[in-house]
Amino acid sequence: MALVNENFLRLPGSYLFAEIAKKIAAHKSEYPNHHVISLGIGDVTQPLAPVVIKALQDATLEMASEKTMRGYAPDQGYPFLVNAILKNDFEARGISLDADEIFVSDGAKSDTGNIGDILSADNIIAITDPVYPVYVDTNVMAGRAGTLIDGRWSNIEYLDCTAENNFIPELPKQRVDVVYLCYPNNPTGTTLTRTHLKAWVDYALANEVLLLYDAAYEAFITDPEVPHSIYEIEGAKQCAIEFHSFSKTAGFTGLRCAYTVVPKELKAYAQEDADISLNTLWKRRQSTKFNGTAYIVQRAAEATYSPEGKQQIRAVIDYYMENARTIKSGLETLNMKVYGGVNAPYIWAKTPYNKSSWEYFDFLLHHLHIVTTPGSGFGKSGEGYIRLTAFGNRNDTLEAVNRMVNN
Ligand SMILES: *Cc1c(COP(=O)(O)O)cnc(C)c1O
Repeated sequence: MALVNENFLRLPGSYLFAEIAKKIAAHKSEYPNHHVISLGIGDVTQPLAPVVIKALQDATLEMASEKTMRGYAPDQGYPFLVNAILKNDFEARGISLDADEIFVSDGAKSDTGNIGDILSADNIIAITDPVYPVYVDTNVMAGRAGTLIDGRWSNIEYLDCTAENNFIPELPKQRVDVVYLCYPNNPTGTTLTRTHLKAWVDYALANEVLLLYDAAYEAFITDPEVPHSIYEIEGAKQCAIEFHSFSKTAGFTGLRCAYTVVPKELKAYAQEDADISLNTLWKRRQSTKFNGTAYIVQRAAEATYSPEGKQQIRAVIDYYMENARTIKSGLETLNMKVYGGVNAPYIWAKTPYNKSSWEYFDFLLHHLHIVTTPGSGFGKSGEGYIRLTAFGNRNDTLEAVNRMVNN
């Protein structure tokens, strides 16, 4: 008799975006002639950069010949990509890392979800609230979350991020072992400055806490006070794993390429040993359960670091950030309280008239045919907010903002 992993049965209802998709489908069948605009899901819309397409084509042709075809990739990624990452994302910021501290993968969702494989089920986890749902759900699957009581898991420490604390999480009040941080933040679009992040690193070092730092939106940072990598902070190599992705940086959501940094200085504990290398464990985990990112995709990722590549992906990010400014200033003319949108492609807006997230979501869908994401879907502290994304195309974004401003 095959028994299931019962932790999966603890997960509540349908995933947020499935619920939204259902509502959109119902709305579209009710109003078949309306142009429904989505500022909802965090997915890119603009084409891949020309250098990326060229790299994909060239690498595909290499695969067509016996002399140049490639089979399995090296476990941690091809040196051409790893070296480009080290040089551009780290050395350029004064951070020195070794090639074997970088693990190229197929996504930051998989990596942030899988990292729990190397961590004990007994760890107490802290997450910010609202939060990217992957961190919570993967801990539930691993049996690390406890039971769900009134929308919150009994073994998870929630760090509320609200307008009252400027969306800056306070350090945990009780003892925790692992903290997930995502900055620039999805869903709120807010950031931590160098000073804030240093407080987290100092806390983690003093309390032997592991930080899991998701930097998926690093490329959207405009403010010089906001670090692009946690390793810009002294001591972070001893307490933090960092996740990067080409998905939002270069529009790779459909291509799939990411990387995770696990410094060799980073140690954790076993029952009888205080000196276990997480780099060694992650290497073992990845080489056992993952067989690498496609050669052609790694070549495409490498191309984003060429001088033309950098210019081309910057132009697309600028395009999205122009959308962010349009949304932000449009909502501000409605006197709505609006956060984010400056260092991140997300705008986090307080609902008017104290409407709940879903009430305001329904209002925008039914009256203005605009899809957003209800803040409450990201956690209890997201109630009373909606998230709008800047990843749409320009015309749709302008049209959606016009509908809101003129209604
Ligand atoms: C989009 C996103 C990612 C990227 O995930 P991929 O699997 O690399 O596409 C990672 N973290 C957060 C918070 C995200 O929003």
